[in-house]
Amino acid sequence: MDRRSALTETFMASLLPCTEQETLYRQAVREVAEDVLTIEKNNPAYAEARVLHRLAEPDRILSFRVVWEDDDGGVQINRAWRIQCSNAIGPYKGGLRFHPRISLDVLKFLAFEQCFKNALTGLPLGGAKGGADFDPRGRSEREIMRFCQAFMREMAPFIGPDTDVPAGDINVGPREIGYLFGAWRKASHVYGGALTGKGLSYGGSEGRVEATGYGLIYFLQAMLAHQGDDVAGRRIAVSGKGNVATHAAEKAIAEGAVVTTLSDTSGTLLAEDGLTQDAVEWVRARKAAGEDIADPPARFGATYRENATPWETGPEIALPCATQNELDADMARALVDGGAKIVAEGANMPLTAGASDVIRRAGLCHVPGKASNAGGVAVSGLEMSQNRHGRQLSADAVDKALRDIILRIHDSVVREGRDDGRIDYIRGANIAGYRRLAQAISAQGVL
Ligand code: GLU
Repeated sequence: MDRRSALTETFMASLLPCTEQETLYRQAVREVAEDVLTIEKNNPAYAEARVLHRLAEPDRILSFRVVWEDDDGGVQINRAWRIQCSNAIGPYKGGLRFHPRISLDVLKFLAFEQCFKNALTGLPLGGAKGGADFDPRGRSEREIMRFCQAFMREMAPFIGPDTDVPAGDINVGPREIGYLFGAWRKASHVYGGALTGKGLSYGGSEGRVEATGYGLIYFLQAMLAHQGDDVAGRRIAVSGKGNVATHAAEKAIAEGAVVTTLSDTSGTLLAEDGLTQDAVEWVRARKAAGEDIADPPARFGATYRENATPWETGPEIALPCATQNELDADMARALVDGGAKIVAEGANMPLTAGASDVIRRAGLCHVPGKASNAGGVAVSGLEMSQNRHGRQLSADAVDKALRDIILRIHDSVVREGRDDGRIDYIRGANIAGYRRLAQAISAQGVL
């Protein structure tokens, strides 16, 4: 199937002109356009409302400077953004990312994707994303706190439980959410769920930390069950060493899979017989301490391969859980040659467009992050609901609700993605998300 149809090219050319480099953003929009434009064209209400054009241009982009003081008394300046893409189906919702190489391009693509992901959850959640070019590496605890406080000083007027509810993302975990929430509460003089991923002692939900990784495995289980198969005994390669990667690995191991890898930007930790839960916890602890994973203790039976990726180790299932565009066309070829059958994304858009082409042509099942990593934002939605109602669900209740939401997402993606006896998960996710957004946008008039 050629993913570069004339309809898509005309659409891409008709978007408002880019003011800067927008490679990732255009990659993400193009991928969705390819699947949904025919539906838009054939539905007069959606076509008239120009739904995809409206989603492709964010409602608003907040851009701000963050000034803070380092431990030596030096004045530091960072750049930060919040992209509020669409609140057609609920308050703006999406994570915050701190990374030195963050850009408007990265955040715009993530905010756009978030609209579709959040629509798929079936919960009332709009789409947004934000972050700063702040590098937490080598920063002290106090510096991180001061940065979070300064960041929130600028962002506080624009967020709130019913307007925009940020959460964590890369390098923004429970510690940062704590500092951000404290600063928001002080600035707004209100106590409410303006952020998710909060600690349990101040309005957080059970299961939020684990939700993205666990949800990814629940999705994989639903997918395998649909094929009459099971995750037990499957060889799974996971990339990354952060929250999503380690929780996906942990849950897959608990379900009897053989998780052969985790990784960082310099190489891959490989255990041919499978990583143990202990090994996963060691990786998590190293990451939390800002240390690398290159010297695993011998008892893990694992080796660290410098410059190697998880994709050349011959897995049956690949779970890219590190970052965008981490898996290129050569790596995709290595996966195909190694006999892989499934790629399910834990990160957001971890495959380059070239890699996606290779995977599609080889006939592998490829599940996009907007479906398979929606567990995190789904539990964020549960956290918002608990905050509104002043209640606290048990860990079991959250886990059950998460499984139910993931199963529903899987069902809707399968329904929309049937294609000649097989399931096109990318198409299914794009269409299922689009339909909900299109109904809401077209019903609410021109604004
Ligand atoms: N950053 C996560 C994501 O990419 C979670 C967002 C949220 O919970 O708002 O979906």
